[in-house]
Amino acid sequence: PYDHMLKIRKQNVSPSLATYYKKPLLLHQGHMQWLFDYEGRRYLDLFAGIVTVSVGHCHPKVTAAAQKQLGRLWHTTNIYMHPSIQEYAEKLTALLPDPLKVVYLTNSGSEANDLAMFMARLYTRNFDIICFRGGYHGGSPYTQGVTSIRSYKHGVANGFGCPTTMLPDVFRGPWGGSHCRDSPVQTVRKCSCSAGHCHANDQYIEQFKDTLNTCVPKGIAGFIAESIQGVNGAVQYPKSFLKEAFQLVREREGVCIADEVQTGFGRTGSHFWGFQTHDVVPDIVTMAKGIGNGFPMAAVVTTREIANSLAQNLHFNTFGGNPVACVVGSAVLDAIVEDGLQKNSEEVGTYMLLELAKVRDKFEIIGDVRGKGLMIGIEMVKDKDGCQPLPTEEMNQIWEDCKDMGVLIGKGGIYGQTFRIKPPMCITKQDADFALEVFHAALMRYME
Ligand code: PMP
Repeated sequence: PYDHMLKIRKQNVSPSLATYYKKPLLLHQGHMQWLFDYEGRRYLDLFAGIVTVSVGHCHPKVTAAAQKQLGRLWHTTNIYMHPSIQEYAEKLTALLPDPLKVVYLTNSGSEANDLAMFMARLYTRNFDIICFRGGYHGGSPYTQGVTSIRSYKHGVANGFGCPTTMLPDVFRGPWGGSHCRDSPVQTVRKCSCSAGHCHANDQYIEQFKDTLNTCVPKGIAGFIAESIQGVNGAVQYPKSFLKEAFQLVREREGVCIADEVQTGFGRTGSHFWGFQTHDVVPDIVTMAKGIGNGFPMAAVVTTREIANSLAQNLHFNTFGGNPVACVVGSAVLDAIVEDGLQKNSEEVGTYMLLELAKVRDKFEIIGDVRGKGLMIGIEMVKDKDGCQPLPTEEMNQIWEDCKDMGVLIGKGGIYGQTFRIKPPMCITKQDADFALEVFHAALMRYME
């Protein structure tokens, strides 16, 4: 059916839904960390439908839970109660620290972030939302305003003019920070940090303060940030940066929004939520992608006070909190615990990061290997000294080769220069070895 499918795709599906690879894949089936095409070829999925298939394609328990609910009740809207929304809300909030105990369910990450920013504005009665360069928070008008990657800036009016501060990136940023990020692998860039004190962090905090003092009014509505920048290629901040930034935002009345769309649900290994690795408690947490293992659902979790400020206004959502979504979400949480996936993220992720660091040391075109758990970025450069991004065609050669050898990886970064490895969290060490072998072979072929 391949040629026929490609023809219809070109005729009737929006070209902005761009497919990966010169010859796009036509997939037939998925099982845990594996995908199968129509010709029966098997691929190790290291991108999980863009960091979404958290517990595995068609995970048997999640599938069974969805099937059972599909035969019972599909939809009610929120004007009636059904048990699964209460059960899910209780289970999800049990995983969050006080005072984050109130859930609003939505259908996508963009919608969750829209709502979070709307809540911040209603609660503070201020307007400005601060964000970082390199952050991605969605494709809706509100979230486009806080998505700060040039390929998502379209040259026409969109967003709401939210101030963007700098990119506190210890690899690409101006100040280095060679032992300052929360990762088993540090950058090879030199910096003037001394043990226990991060000079890069001081610089970034000064810059952040400067933006707040010069670009925004006294009172701001909020600050939105990912714990690790996902679309930007697993970019990490210096260790104590987010904590200090939260404090500065709160001094200006702003609420702190943690976008856990990619970093939540155990992906970073050491903690269930990415923000916990920064030792902060946000005022609002948004989540999507991995929450439903591919089922369209998302959530905003916040405090009673902030939730109440929204409740004073009529705000409605037809599909959020759908019974099937709630049952799926609940089964995903069970699978993470029962299958030991957070621990697996930590173990397999750390193993991959350390092995990839050895590959980095061998090849001049790998500038940086970074990340935490199964949230990994490999930044490709022309050469290590210059940090110039590897041109797209060259990136693609390596990436297509990996696919041809049975390994699917993602791409991202401000210049599209970073490979992204964010597989279903059920991936094994043996799978990691296979992936490393394939990546190495693709690099060797590139060097020929
Ligand atoms: N936040 C982050 C961190 C994301 O990575 C994404 C999607 N890439 C979104 C928000 C938007 O989510 P969605 O595509 O479900 O609207």
